Amino acid sequence: MADEEIWVCSMAYIQVTTRCNMFCEHCGFSCTAEGEDMSMEVFERTLQVFEGSYITIGGGEPTLHPKIFEMVLGIIMLIAWGVLHNKNSVEK
Ligand code: SF4
Repeated sequence: MADEEIWVCSMAYIQVTTRCNMFCEHCGFSCTAEGEDMSMEVFERTLQVFEGSYITIGGGEPTLHPKIFEMVLGIIMLIAWGVLHNKNSVEK
């Protein structure tokens, strides 16, 4: 059997929103005041895919995401306890 190369992603940039309250002409993300927010389902799935990677949360302006505190809590729980904070884990 030939040696297999395994590629592991060590860094991830998660754009949680394209909303931003700035209007920089050079913006490479095409962010607007309206923008779009990443759903918690997509965010949690993304965390699972990139588990073990260095994660950067960005946007847009990530603090404009209405669930930014839950997202940060999810990352902290993943680092501290290896589990994602979600409704099911709270109910168990
Ligand atoms: S995302 Fe950054 S570059 Fe784009 S408008 Fe907002 S602050 Fe400016």
